[in-house]
Amino acid sequence: MPLDPECRRCPLCSGRTQVVPPSGDLRSKVALVGEAPGAQEDQLGRPFVGRAGRTLDKLMAEAGLDREKVMITNTVKCRPPENRRPTGEEASSCRPHLAEDLKEKTFVIALGLSAAEGLLGRKLVMSEVANRTFDVELDGHELKVMVTYHPSACIYRPQAKDVLRDALRAAVAHL
Ligand code: SF4
Repeated sequence: MPLDPECRRCPLCSGRTQVVPPSGDLRSKVALVGEAPGAQEDQLGRPFVGRAGRTLDKLMAEAGLDREKVMITNTVKCRPPENRRPTGEEASSCRPHLAEDLKEKTFVIALGLSAAEGLLGRKLVMSEVANRTFDVELDGHELKVMVTYHPSACIYRPQAKDVLRDALRAAVAHL
């Protein structure tokens, strides 16, 4: 389902400044998927432009992954109040938009548990699945999903940073 800038499919529409669409190369075979827009993303209308985005940019540069050669998007396109995790109902409501984002992707990096659990449809323990790749079917389309840490989890954790950098490096081979 194409993203409608006036979308009101779930209650997150009431607190947003604007819908945050995917950015980067929308036709890339590779996508990075986060949880939800934060305050700066909500203001600027682009995913991963706040503090977590700056961490992601730095790690992408270190991994040799060009931000403009991948799509970057979120599980839900509107900012949840107080930056809380989106509910299952909100994620389900926005799923047709995520399916649209990913319909031509072959390799997806799920940044953080929220995005990973939404894509895999089950509860996960990050320490058990970090940088593992899973076959996922999304609306009849098959793709590979690598689960890794969200950049915000890396700000004070060098070990998570190394893991995320390795995942980003793995994406380079799929471009
Ligand atoms: S989060 Fe998604 S489904 Fe909910 S209002 Fe925003 S665009 Fe629509």
